[in-house]
Amino acid sequence: MRRANQIVAEVLQLMRERVAPGVTTAELDELAEAVIRGHDAIPSFKGYPPGSANPFPASICASVNDELVHGIPGPRVLQEGDIISVDVGAILDGYHGDAAVTLPVGQINAQVQKLMEVTEGSLYAGIAAARAGSRTGDISVAIQSYVEGRGYNVVREYTGHGIGREMHEDPQVPNYGKPGTGPQLRKGMTVALEPMVLAGDSCVRVLDDHWTVVSCDRNLTAHFEHTIAVTDGDADILSRL
Ligand code: MG
Repeated sequence: MRRANQIVAEVLQLMRERVAPGVTTAELDELAEAVIRGHDAIPSFKGYPPGSANPFPASICASVNDELVHGIPGPRVLQEGDIISVDVGAILDGYHGDAAVTLPVGQINAQVQKLMEVTEGSLYAGIAAARAGSRTGDISVAIQSYVEGRGYNVVREYTGHGIGREMHEDPQVPNYGKPGTGPQLRKGMTVALEPMVLAGDSCVRVLDDHWTVVSCDRNLTAHFEHTIAVTDGDADILSRL
């Protein structure tokens, strides 16, 4: 699990270096896939879910501005002032890694910077609530209260998730909830936490490409994700470089 997640972390580090005005999201996808395959790992998003009529066609999700998650890489050229969520998954020796960051393209304004900081901060608030004996609802409420307390909204339709031999396993970890509810966390459980935050209303919809999730009001969105292992103390962040 740790090795799969370190490959994901390496891809996201490369994305930090390469995201810039003038770069296309397809170029980022090619770079990411080369890193993953260079480690003899498999890009888990590509062709997901197996057997579907509209499998995801790329190795990263590249979601720009009002695109919240699941954006398909393509000819779109990143512009100064954009923000882009890059989500990446890799399978190594049968185990999955999964993580995401939202990155600025060139200079962004202070308002946009704050949305990114609050979203990343809520991820760490969720991680701080994840320990053996607590419940998924404790993580959920930590994320939700962090976000809503700062004037933003969380998405309801998409959640964090258990991860291991499959990319999406039980338990689901919503970004909203109530303390003391949901499945109990046990030492050694591996979970992907992924706050998805909207500057405007929490309404989202899926575009005709069957994948890209956008905010209904087209306001900006941000997304951060880590895969963690639960311990008796602070969680072990497997996807941190
Ligand atoms: Mg995930």
